[in-house]
Amino acid sequence: MRFLSRRHALTSAASLLGLSSLPGCTDRSLRNLDLDADVRSLPVIRARTDRIDRITVCLRPFRAAGPRLDVEQIGHKTVVHNYGHGGSGWSLSWGSAKLAVERALPVNSAKIGILGCGAIGLTTAIVAQQAGAEVTIYAESLPPFVRSARASGSWTPSSRIAQKDTMTPEFVNRWEAMARYSFSCYQNLQGLPGNPIEWDTFYGMKSRELDPLHADPIGFAKLDDRIQDIEPQGNLIQVDDTRLPYSEVHKKPNLIFNVTSYSDYLLRQFLERGGKIKTMTLHHPSELTALPEPVFINCTGYGARALWNDSSIIPVRGQIAWLIPQPEALCSMSFGNVYVVSRRDGIVVQWMGDDMGFGYNGTDETPDLAEAHRSVSVINGLYRSMGYTV
Ligand SMILES: Cc1cc2nc3c(=O)[nH]c(=O)nc-3n(C[C@H](O)[C@H](O)[C@H](O)COP(=O)(O)OP(=O)(O)OC[C@H]3O[C@@H](n4cnc5c(N)ncnc54)[C@H](O)[C@@H]3O)c2cc1C
Repeated sequence: MRFLSRRHALTSAASLLGLSSLPGCTDRSLRNLDLDADVRSLPVIRARTDRIDRITVCLRPFRAAGPRLDVEQIGHKTVVHNYGHGGSGWSLSWGSAKLAVERALPVNSAKIGILGCGAIGLTTAIVAQQAGAEVTIYAESLPPFVRSARASGSWTPSSRIAQKDTMTPEFVNRWEAMARYSFSCYQNLQGLPGNPIEWDTFYGMKSRELDPLHADPIGFAKLDDRIQDIEPQGNLIQVDDTRLPYSEVHKKPNLIFNVTSYSDYLLRQFLERGGKIKTMTLHHPSELTALPEPVFINCTGYGARALWNDSSIIPVRGQIAWLIPQPEALCSMSFGNVYVVSRRDGIVVQWMGDDMGFGYNGTDETPDLAEAHRSVSVINGLYRSMGYTV
C-alpha cells in the first residue's frame, strides 16, 4: 500500500500549477495547514465527477426484528430462512450461515438446496458443504448481477440490522454470536491472491457543519459496543485549525471486502467442492416441492419480500457512485454525509443523506445522477480545503 504524503501532494500540485495559482498556497500557509502527523498521509482520492465509471443502486433487506432464521414446513419440504440482513449482509454472512446450517442438519439429508447466490447464499452453501452436504444453489441471478455486488464492502455488522424498540435479548445474543464468528472467519481469509479481504485505514472526519448520522428517526439498533474487544479502535485526533472543515478525525483500521474478487473466490470454493448451480426464478414457495432436496435454506435477500410474501422486509435504498480504482490510494473515510471506500475493484462514494432515515422504504433502483455528483463534489471540496488538487 503506497500513501502519497500530504506535503508531497501539495508540492507536486504546487509545482505543476505554480505556487501562485493555488489560492492561499504559499510556503507559510502550507506550514500552517499541517495536520497532526497521523492524518498528514491521507491518500489522495481523485474525487472528480469525470472519473465516475458507473452508478449502482441496491436495496438493503431490513427487518425491524433482525434477520429471519426460523424453520418452516412447506408440504414435505423443510425450509430454514436466512434473509433480512439489512446493511450487514457481507459482515454477518459466515455467522448467519453457521446458524442456518445448524438448523438444517437435523433433517439428516445428504442434500441441501440453497435459494439465492448473493453474500448470504454463497457463504451458506459453503458452510453446508463443510458440514458434509451435497449442495445445489437455485437462484435467479449470480454475481456480479446480485444486489450484494452493489455493497460498499466494509465490516459493518450492525448497520441497519434491526430496530432498537423491536429487537429481543435473544436477537442481540444471536447477533453477537454471528458477528464474532464472521469476524474470526475473515481473519482467515486475508493474504489470498487478489486480496478479497484486507485491512485499510479509515478516516472518520467529523464535519464542523454536519453530523448527519447522529439523527436517527428510524431508531436503528446500535450494537457495536458488544464486540468492541475484537475491533481495533484507533485514535481520535482533534483538529484545532478552523480553516479545515472537520473538527476531529477518527483514524482506525477498517476491514474491507473487495467484493468482485471475494465473490469470485466464494464461487470457486463452492464449485471446487462439487457444488452445482441452477439458474431459475421461483414464484411461490410451493414450487420447492418439485425440487429433489428435502431441505432448503432460503437466502433470497430482498427477493424474499415477494417470494415469501414477507412485508416485514423494508427496503433501505443506497446508491454508490463508483470512481475509477486507484490502487495507490486504498483507504476509507467519512466526511459529513458522504462515505468513501477506495477498494481495489473501484472507489465507492456513497451519499448517506441528512440523517439515518435516508433511503428507508425506498424501492426505486434507478440511478440518480444528481445524487452521485453531489457526493463526489463533497469529497472534492474536502481535498481542496486541505490544499490538494485532485
Ligand atoms: C449501498 C449499500 C451498501 C452496503 N454496504 C455494505 C457493507 O459495506 N457491508 C455489509 O456487510 N453489507 C452492506 N450492505 C448490505 C448488503 O449488501 C446486504 O445485506 C446483502 O447484499 C444481502 O445479501 P443477500 O445474499 O441476502 O441478498 P442478495 O445479494 O440480494 O441475493 C439474493 C439472491 O437470491 C436470488 N433470488 C431472489 N429472489 C429470488 C427468486 N424469487 N427466485 C430465485 N432466486 C431469487 C437472487 O437472484 C440472488 O441470487 C450494503 C447495502 C447497500 C444497499
